[in-house]
Amino acid sequence: MSLFRPDRFVTLCAARPVACLLGSRLAETLPVLMYHSISDDPETGVGAYYRVATSPGRFAEQMQWIADAGYRAVTLQDGMKALADGNLPTRRLVAVTFDDGFRDFHKAAWPVLSRHKFSATMYLPTGYIQHERKTFLNRQCMTWAEVRELRREGIQFGSHTVNHPKLYTLSWSNIEQELLRSKQQIDNELGETISSFAYPFAFPQEDSGFTEKLSDLLYRCGYASCATTVIGRMGQGDDPLWVHRLPVNQCDDRALFLAKLRGWYDWLGNVQWTARRVRSRIRHTRRLETSDPPNLAQSHKSL
Ligand SMILES: [Zn+2]
Repeated sequence: MSLFRPDRFVTLCAARPVACLLGSRLAETLPVLMYHSISDDPETGVGAYYRVATSPGRFAEQMQWIADAGYRAVTLQDGMKALADGNLPTRRLVAVTFDDGFRDFHKAAWPVLSRHKFSATMYLPTGYIQHERKTFLNRQCMTWAEVRELRREGIQFGSHTVNHPKLYTLSWSNIEQELLRSKQQIDNELGETISSFAYPFAFPQEDSGFTEKLSDLLYRCGYASCATTVIGRMGQGDDPLWVHRLPVNQCDDRALFLAKLRGWYDWLGNVQWTARRVRSRIRHTRRLETSDPPNLAQSHKSL
């Protein structure tokens, strides 16, 4: 039932044989999976790569594939610690992360994780997590009571801002507010200090001026890790404020899912980087040609 997708074709027909020939860095790298909604949303008209829903049945299969391959799913914090300590080769860990705080994590994902004695990290846009049920992107979100219940079960929580804005379009003072207020609210609700953040929307990796200032700001706000949409696995010595992840959804069948764990999907990170650089150059050239004021660059210099 999987749709044809070029990234799957290249991964299985080119990257896999080359990686098998050269050997891989499997032992020293941490795959960090990126999920959003665990639901039966068909996402009609959305391309396979861009989908954010995984059905409960497919999610259960994917967790079983992890177990069958001898891996264990853990929080990003635990995965990063094992990577830093050099314990990954013996422990075979996969970090599983979820963005957006949807209620379906509590209803559909947690029972599966629990059955396997797995854990995960969930990033909350705190403006949508309340004591009464709220919705975000037409999906129900968890309540604070559910968040606390899952925390007691070992789920790690992090910030995904307050309002889930495109941070790149905000002034630095507004970005700072999004980082600080969301963290304070989670700290208060959970009675502990959290230190994980996930960047909403596509991470502007091509703008080194922005990403460097963002890293400084995250650090000053008390964050120790930032999960991004940059594709790839995390290696020893990689910047914890720039965590690469592997997007996963309903269209990831067993072959593609296991290929991602083994690093055969990492090639797409280079394509992603090049494509974003080229698009950025084209935008910059057009701005110069039309003499538009560089509004974003100026707003980001205001910190
Ligand atoms: Zn999000």
